[in-house]
Amino acid sequence: MNNTKSKELFNEGQKHLVGAVNSPVRAFNSVGGKPLFMQRAEGSKIYDVDGNEYIDMVLSYGPMILGHGNEKVIEAVQKQVCTGFTFGASTEDEITLAGMVCDTFPGMDKVRFVNSGTEAVLSAIRLARAYTGKNHILKFAGCYHGHSDALLVAAGSGLATLSIPGSAGVPKEAVQNTLIAEYNDIDSVKKHIEECDDIAAVFIEPIAGNMGVVKPTDEFIKELRTITKAAGILLVIDEVMTGFRSKFGGAQELLGIEADITCLGKVVGGGFPVGAYGARNEIMEMVSPLGAMYQAGTLSGNPVAMAAGISTLSELKTQNPYDKFNAQAATIEKALLAAASANGIELTVNRFGSMINPFFTSKTVTNFEEAQECNTEQFTKFFWGLIENGIYIPPSQFEAWFLCSVLSEEDMSKIINAINNAMKKVNETVTA
Ligand SMILES: *Cc1c(COP(=O)(O)O)cnc(C)c1O
Repeated sequence: MNNTKSKELFNEGQKHLVGAVNSPVRAFNSVGGKPLFMQRAEGSKIYDVDGNEYIDMVLSYGPMILGHGNEKVIEAVQKQVCTGFTFGASTEDEITLAGMVCDTFPGMDKVRFVNSGTEAVLSAIRLARAYTGKNHILKFAGCYHGHSDALLVAAGSGLATLSIPGSAGVPKEAVQNTLIAEYNDIDSVKKHIEECDDIAAVFIEPIAGNMGVVKPTDEFIKELRTITKAAGILLVIDEVMTGFRSKFGGAQELLGIEADITCLGKVVGGGFPVGAYGARNEIMEMVSPLGAMYQAGTLSGNPVAMAAGISTLSELKTQNPYDKFNAQAATIEKALLAAASANGIELTVNRFGSMINPFFTSKTVTNFEEAQECNTEQFTKFFWGLIENGIYIPPSQFEAWFLCSVLSEEDMSKIINAINNAMKKVNETVTA
C-alpha cells in the first residue's frame, strides 16, 4: 500500500498543528503508526491522499450515518449556503429541526441547539445544577461525555488509548464534585447516593461507545432510572453517539427508560457541527432567556448545519435502515467470531444496532475494567490488516465501528473478506 503522500502531509502538518491533528484519536498513536490523510468520500467509501480506497466504518465517528454525499443533504446544504451562512438571528429551520427532535424523544418538550456534543453535555451539567440546586454529578468509568473539565475523569477511548488519567490542566476543584461509578454495577451508584445528598445528576451513555461498545443490562438501566428518580437526581442520558443510530430516535426507547435531560450531537447535524440538549418544559424553562441559567452561542442553530440536520433526519426516516443495520451487524459479528476461531484467537464481539466492536479477549466486556483487559497488540495488527485490505475502522480498540445506510452487498463481502485476511495477521510475529 502506498502511503507516501499521507506521510509527507503528516511531517508537514506537525509544524503548525499539534501532532498534525485537531483531535487526538486521529493521530493513530494507539496503533503505532502515522495517520492517513483523507481527501474525499462518496457513499460508503473514503479515499486518502494517495488514492487508496476504503470502506468507511469510522464515518467521522458517527455523524455520516447516510454515508457520504447523500444527494438530498447536498441539495439542502447548497441551497442554504447560497441563501446565507449565518445571521445571528432565529430562522424557521431551527423550529423545524427542534420539532423533529422533540417529536422523536418523548421526554423532550424543548431543545436548545449548540455546536458540539461537548457543549451539549457541559450545558446539561449547568442545567442539572440550576434545576436541582445541587452540585455533585456522577458518571461511569469508561463513559465519555466530551472534553469539559468536570467530566474529564475516567473518560474512555481517547484517554484510555493514551493511558492518561484525566487530563493535565484540569484543576482538582473542577472534578471534586464528580463521582465515579462502575458501568453495569448498580451498587456502586447506590453507595454514592447513600453517601452524598448533593447529587444533581447522573450522566450515562445509554449504550457505551467510548470504551468500545458496552451494553447496559436491562436490570441495571431500569434500576438506575428508578433510584435516581426516588432520590430526586436527574438522569442525563448522553445520546450524542446513540441518537438516531439504532432506531429513529434514541437508545432510551429501545431500553425502555426516559431521561430527564437528553444530549444529542453527531447524527443530528448530518456532518455539520451541531449538538443539542433537551428536556421537559419545567427543566428547559430554567434556560435563558426564559430562566436564570445562562447559555449562549454565536453560531448556535447555524442555518447550514440546521439544513444538514433536517435533511439527514428526513432521509433517515424515509430510508428506515435500522433492520438492515441489525442484519448487517449480525453478519459482521459472525464473520469476526468465525475468523477469530479459525485462527485460534480469543475474541468477544459487542454490538448494538449499527455500532459494533470486536474485543481481543476471551471474556465478556461489560465495563471499563474488562474492556481494558483486551490485547491491544492483537488489535493493532488486526487494524493494519484491515487498512491494507481497504477497510477503514477507528484506530483504537476502544472506539465503536459504525455502519452507514448505503453499505451494499458488495461492500459486505469486501468487509468479510478483509476480516478473514486481517485476522490471519494477528498471530504473525512482525519482523521489522
Ligand atoms: C462524541 C461524544 C461526545 C462529544 O461530542 P463532540 O461533538 O466530539 O464534542 C459526547 N458524548 C458522547 C457519548 C460522544 O460519543
